[in-house]
Amino acid sequence: MNNRELIEKLNKEHHLEREEWVQLFATFTEEDRKMAAEIAREIAVRNFGKDIYFRGIVEFTNICKNDCKYCGIRKSNVNVARYRLNLEQIMACCAAGYENGFRTFVLQGGEDAWFTDERMCEIIAKIKESYPDCAVTLSLGERSRESYAKMFEAGADRYLLRHETADEAHYEYLHPSAMKLSNRMQCLKALKEIGYQTGCGLMVGSPGQSPETLAKDMLFIEEFQPQMIGMGPFLPHKDTPFRDEAKGSVKLTLFLLALCRIMLPFVLLPSTTALGTADNDGRKQGVLHGCNVIMPNLSPEDVRKNYMLYDNKAGTNLTAKEGIQIVREEMEEIGYHVVVGRGDFRKGKNNNENSNS
Ligand code: SAH
Repeated sequence: MNNRELIEKLNKEHHLEREEWVQLFATFTEEDRKMAAEIAREIAVRNFGKDIYFRGIVEFTNICKNDCKYCGIRKSNVNVARYRLNLEQIMACCAAGYENGFRTFVLQGGEDAWFTDERMCEIIAKIKESYPDCAVTLSLGERSRESYAKMFEAGADRYLLRHETADEAHYEYLHPSAMKLSNRMQCLKALKEIGYQTGCGLMVGSPGQSPETLAKDMLFIEEFQPQMIGMGPFLPHKDTPFRDEAKGSVKLTLFLLALCRIMLPFVLLPSTTALGTADNDGRKQGVLHGCNVIMPNLSPEDVRKNYMLYDNKAGTNLTAKEGIQIVREEMEEIGYHVVVGRGDFRKGKNNNENSNS
């Protein structure tokens, strides 16, 4: 089959074979990308209209026990001033967000043991008590199943944990030896079983990535059926072992986003900050390739420079109000609009399922 036929097959069957994925990633052309974008955009408009959900990210700690080779806040980067936000500071971020229409708060941070289950549950419960109409998303990396369960009990709704790559050797290349793909997969499985709306995902163009590893990613995503997928280009950070690596391709990122939308028609798919950093039009382009979520920053302005996962991160000098205003304008420019609401995952009648299952 040629690439056009493969994209059509994906649209009908929501499944491709490994070799078919490899072919697509190894040989796709601009025409293929545009064709995928068109189909993906139609699906998104059918399922979400021209509504874009927005979530506010609160980067509440940059202290991390891990040493991921791509990440600017890795443990061995001594050039970062480390910080933790306290409960009052986190609540102030949420208050500013709520005032500006945010109805999902994403607590993201390094793997910081100071934030025990007890402390996390206190924060989550406090946010849910103050804003019962809001969703809380967590993005705090790997923890025990018990920990995930307690935080879910405390009111957390969603969890983002990118799998980063579904290829074991590639996973080991990106991470210190203490981190294992099998553990990441177990965490993801536990999160979903507990009842979180769960997100996996990856960086496009991470060092060592290939059409073969991407094929494994797509097969994993199909099997896992996440409610969310986080996917942006890899961008090097000057204080990491990957400082001299090339940044991920914007075109390939957009192609992948479109393919994710076609494979999982109802998935919540953010047009990421990394995509907006790699290209001025990135976030708009993401939406035009089937994305339906945007995640502006709600962190206190003075700590943002210390939460640089990669160099030149976009939006680091914007207030909650400015951040959402810019998104609003960008979306209007392409005929979309941001909506105030939690924007939960909803499964459609006959979609997001394998026709061969
Ligand atoms: N500690 C949490 C949150 C990590 S930051 C966790 O491990 O899940 C969220 C995501 O940012 C990561 O999963 C990774 O995919 C992405 N990221 C990290 N460094 C990056 C870089 N240099 N370029 C692009 N994305 C990066």
